[in-house]
Amino acid sequence: MRPARLKPEIPLLQPQHRAGVLLPLPLAGAYDYKLPPGINAPRGALVAAPLGNRETLGVVWGSAEGTVGDNRLKIAEPLDGNPALPQALCDFIDWVAAYTLNPPGAILAMALRSRGAFEPEAHRIAYVKGEIVPARLSEARKRVLAVAEDGLARSVAGLAEDANVSPAVVRGLIAAGALVTTQLPEFAAFPPPDPDFAAPQLNADQAAAAAALDAAVTAGKFSVHLLDGVTGSGKTEVYFEAVAAALARGKQILILLPEIALTVQFLERFAARFGVRPAEWHSDLSQKERRRTYRAVMRGEARVVVGARSSLFLPFSELGLVIVDEEHEQAFKQQDGAIYHARDMAVVRAKSEDCPVVLSSATPSLETYVNARQGRYQHLMLSARHGAAAMPDVRLIDMRRREFEDNSRWLSPALRMAMTETLAAGEQAMLFLNRRGYAPLTLCAGCGHKLTCPSCSAWLVEHRYRRRLACHQCGYEIAAPQTCPSCAAQDSLIACGPGVERVAEEFAHFFPAARYAIASSDTVQGSLHSGPAEMQGPIRAMAKGEIDVLIGTQIMAKGHHFPNLTLVGVIDADLGGSDGDLRARERTFQLLHQVSGRAGRAEKPGLVLLQTRNPHDAVMQALARGDRDGFYEQEGDLRRRAGAPPYGRLAALIVSGYDGEAVREIARALGKAAPPAKDIKVWGPTPAFYALLRGQTRERLLVQAGKGVDVQAYLKAWLALVKVPAAVRVAVDVDPISFF
Ligand code: ADP
Ligand code: ZN
Repeated sequence: MRPARLKPEIPLLQPQHRAGVLLPLPLAGAYDYKLPPGINAPRGALVAAPLGNRETLGVVWGSAEGTVGDNRLKIAEPLDGNPALPQALCDFIDWVAAYTLNPPGAILAMALRSRGAFEPEAHRIAYVKGEIVPARLSEARKRVLAVAEDGLARSVAGLAEDANVSPAVVRGLIAAGALVTTQLPEFAAFPPPDPDFAAPQLNADQAAAAAALDAAVTAGKFSVHLLDGVTGSGKTEVYFEAVAAALARGKQILILLPEIALTVQFLERFAARFGVRPAEWHSDLSQKERRRTYRAVMRGEARVVVGARSSLFLPFSELGLVIVDEEHEQAFKQQDGAIYHARDMAVVRAKSEDCPVVLSSATPSLETYVNARQGRYQHLMLSARHGAAAMPDVRLIDMRRREFEDNSRWLSPALRMAMTETLAAGEQAMLFLNRRGYAPLTLCAGCGHKLTCPSCSAWLVEHRYRRRLACHQCGYEIAAPQTCPSCAAQDSLIACGPGVERVAEEFAHFFPAARYAIASSDTVQGSLHSGPAEMQGPIRAMAKGEIDVLIGTQIMAKGHHFPNLTLVGVIDADLGGSDGDLRARERTFQLLHQVSGRAGRAEKPGLVLLQTRNPHDAVMQALARGDRDGFYEQEGDLRRRAGAPPYGRLAALIVSGYDGEAVREIARALGKAAPPAKDIKVWGPTPAFYALLRGQTRERLLVQAGKGVDVQAYLKAWLALVKVPAAVRVAVDVDPISFF
């Protein structure tokens, strides 16, 4: 019998919830989907969304927009366990997309880059001691149980090894019930860093800066701080205090480093301060490590992440502090795919998380410097090197006076003399030249033919040890030819200009007894694309004192601390200063200042010799006087008068494709279509610096606008006027920092 009064029956088929689902693909926006009956999913919820005849990961982004009938929408299934991206990350993705003029799905793809992070975890089987103890125990069995006494889970092989028995003995104990299975997660956990593990005694400057950062972390609000101090003044120690403060308050911390500075040395230094290594995030991680780290960040198990720029897009659930070390570094600019500047976006991420961000540098970018001077960023200054170390003595060597002997081409007599003294004193030296290989140009003495890359407008660089010529843009290589490819003359090819290998050759000629090594991305393993994993033979050898002289590119300029290094020789200080780009002077200053900062980091005073043909140039003069701020003020004035950043805005369009004619045609069409607007100038099109790169023709247009102009709105309106065929790509670079 049915009861007389029925509860109102819940209809089985309610109208379904709809949602706009963002897919990690470069589509214009979110797509509408239905959610399964009775299910609602908030912004950020991860779903499996059918797309065509496959299924893709998607994220609920907002409410559905379209008017398509329910029955035409497909169903997006929330993932098991209902994982979701944090709201602040979703907002950040929207912001980055709007600012860089990329489709939000393309930015989302960067935040979902860890394939499989949301799939169920694999478990390993392991064993612990069970309840049953067999009546008769052999000596071998006793040993196994003694090992298992500590309650730790071990594999069969692990137990056998620890007890020094055969696996069969362990299996016998399992069969007898003396060992029982337990499940281990795929990976060990991330142990939490201990804020009090080894706190240093700070000096007065450092303590003041650390207190300001501590206050910012405690306030837990968005704020930007420039941590500004010469190399060796203890910036790392100070921001570690901010990390400690954030740890103590239960926050997660992100430390962004330029990829090149992500070294084992840094991780070890972190471990020395906090007792454990931080989680790492960079291009060298395996898929497995990625998945593991991604999950741990999302669940809040990884408390501190040290990563390259892509770590900005990790799903932190409790982010409370962002640090950008070496904030002036160009490597923070992502140039492929979605073009963005990780330093600028770090500030945006901190804003969306409402937490402080610390920008640290001995040579801040002019943008950051001006922001600090104008009070938008808090300026924290460390004015002296820690302890006894003084700033090095920087001297210019005028290379126009070539009083060289015949057999000396790159090492001036003054530099050789200083080198002799340094080596005699048992100290170390560094020779710096920002050019890999043996010689940047090979040409035929007979016909003048220059060896160039077939796919790039670039010279082939000779690598003498490998006997090859290589394009540093695309990786094209040939065996070093014996005859000129153009006129077939024998032995007529000559190497022009020096690379580090050639400097090393000359060095070895003058100092046959010295122990030296070359450090460039050819010799320092895993440094160009990545990670700290196996670091870096020559640099390590230098740190251990196994060599006296390191000869290298900018790979060795950063972050390394060699206490016994007292002499730095810069072979060609003018390199990079002459390419007419807006930031060339700033970059030269920063790089050479950084390189100079390697000298005399401990008690012994340092000497830096800059070989230059422009000794009266403002950059060289500022370096020699140690007058950083004077240089910044002067450079700032130049930029102000030119309406250049940070006093004006720039954006670039890079038009590229394999069909050169089509590229030039679209570039011209864009140039013509540029709408006239107040306070906006459009330059170009002109061929890019690399007019041919990896086989693609490249043209550039540059937008220069006043500070208050909405450049994105202008670009959007402009780009809508020109139909671009699929074979041509138009990339937008907002705030370009290089003009290649
Ligand atoms: P920066 O990051 O400014 O280049 P670091 O933080 O690397 O400077 O400091 C330079 C060196 O001085 C490091 O070896 C560091 O451990 C040491 N140092 C700095 N401050 C202190 C301090 N307060 N106590 C002990 N050592 C310090
Ligand atoms: Zn090439």
